[in-house]
Amino acid sequence: MTMYSDDEIDLIVSNPVLHRANDREYAEKMRKQNEDSGVIYIDTLLDTGLTDDFWICDMCNDQINVVDEQGESISVYLWLQTRALCGNCIDKYEEQGYLNEGKMFCPCCIGKEKV
Ligand SMILES: [Zn+2]
Ligand SMILES: [Zn+2]
Repeated sequence: MTMYSDDEIDLIVSNPVLHRANDREYAEKMRKQNEDSGVIYIDTLLDTGLTDDFWICDMCNDQINVVDEQGESISVYLWLQTRALCGNCIDKYEEQGYLNEGKMFCPCCIGKEKV
């Protein structure tokens, strides 16, 4: 098995809705800690009314479907572990050789998808 450094790994989010919920939980925890120390900040996860199933491609701003008609999770590809890509952009960047060979499943929501 080849070892990759962090910037050579793309992340596959198996269950985007659960992933977002986990993210928000973390953001809430951070906010609580910050409030205790008197820091106030705006967090997009907490302050924009973003729903957990609303994902946008970070490259072309198209909405990404994360749930199919049966309510099953559709995984989301995170380029460099931070930029969500829609199907078109995955194809485009894959073709141009930008996507990383190293890929891993997000540990926060791995195995929670139905295959
Ligand atoms: Zn896109
Ligand atoms: Zn996750």
